[in-house]
Amino acid sequence: MRDLGFLPEGAVAVDAGKIVRVGPTVDLEADFAPEVRLDARGGVVAPGFVDPHTHPVFTATREAEWELRIEGIPYEEIARRGGGILSTVRAVRAASAEELEAATRAHLDSFLAQGTTTVEAKSGYGLSWRDELKSLQVLQRLQAFHPIGVVATFLGAHEIPAEHRNDREAWIRILTDQLIPEAATRGLAKYCDVFCERGVYTVEESRRILRAAQRVGLRARVHADEFSALGASELAGEMKAVSADHLVSITDAGIRALKDNDVIPVLLPATSFFLNLPHDAPARKMIEEGLPVALATDFNPGSCPCDSMPLVMTVACVRLRMTPAEAFTAATVNAAAALELQDEIGLLREGMQADLVVFAVPDYRRIAYRFGANHVAAVVKRGKIVVGAEAD
Ligand SMILES: [Zn+2]
Repeated sequence: MRDLGFLPEGAVAVDAGKIVRVGPTVDLEADFAPEVRLDARGGVVAPGFVDPHTHPVFTATREAEWELRIEGIPYEEIARRGGGILSTVRAVRAASAEELEAATRAHLDSFLAQGTTTVEAKSGYGLSWRDELKSLQVLQRLQAFHPIGVVATFLGAHEIPAEHRNDREAWIRILTDQLIPEAATRGLAKYCDVFCERGVYTVEESRRILRAAQRVGLRARVHADEFSALGASELAGEMKAVSADHLVSITDAGIRALKDNDVIPVLLPATSFFLNLPHDAPARKMIEEGLPVALATDFNPGSCPCDSMPLVMTVACVRLRMTPAEAFTAATVNAAAALELQDEIGLLREGMQADLVVFAVPDYRRIAYRFGANHVAAVVKRGKIVVGAEAD
């Protein structure tokens, strides 16, 4: 993860949306006469960031609730006053498909402006038949015309909806027997995720939900071991999940389960930072075990309203003790693997999709070091300039 394969004075040649050559500028100048030229002199050219864990399908933000949290009001009291995740659910249900699409599109614009060229995007603020499908359809429409790459995940098992609190079994059956098959048949999602956590979904419920997903061809991802170690990472291993995410409280047995079953650990350190949690995921231990650690924002209106991969890298360096090079690998090639897209994106290599970012910094380490600033000078997606002065 520390070897970025740096090429000083390098150039990238792109044709028909793909990288056709990477090499010294002098060689490429001799061999190509490009129609469009993007001058990156004095800067750093890198693969576009891949953000493999986001919740962007929502309308209302929750800064008032954040202020209460800062003042020490407990989450239960905030929820009683009408805040918390269910307040986001109420707003998503009240929004028309057009309103939800406009809000989500603005979120995707912001990801792209900060150098993220592919995001995984979860539903999960609808929590009803109608509103989960509405959320997935918003993602499907944006997939078709937004320049950013969108990989959709069904997260109907994000919370137990308020109206099913006294009969959670009925909601789980709606998920397993109706929503999951429908999302799969209509091609609305590639993955199915579940929030396996104390007070949310148990390991046994999560297993049933993920099994139902696998029966219809949706591979598993798991919100695992964020606040408590229930055995969610072990479940991710058992289900051969593509990723297990959060992992703040993962045990040694959990790490072994990920390793033995090729489950990619996706760490979300900006969430622990924003919630001011005393602990962080044991990134060093996982890296030393040889696990391909990936980083993601967890962008959502409650626990992490951050859409910047560079800021996540800063937190990973400071709190998880990852080196800047490890953080870069975790935010690009390993993140692409967490979406099973490692053969298409996440690397600057011949044959890969031409998703590139030009940073106006002389050293890649400055991207995370000089934190809180956006160093992006230009973004290229599938060979087209989509952010920057030359974009048309
Ligand atoms: Zn999440």
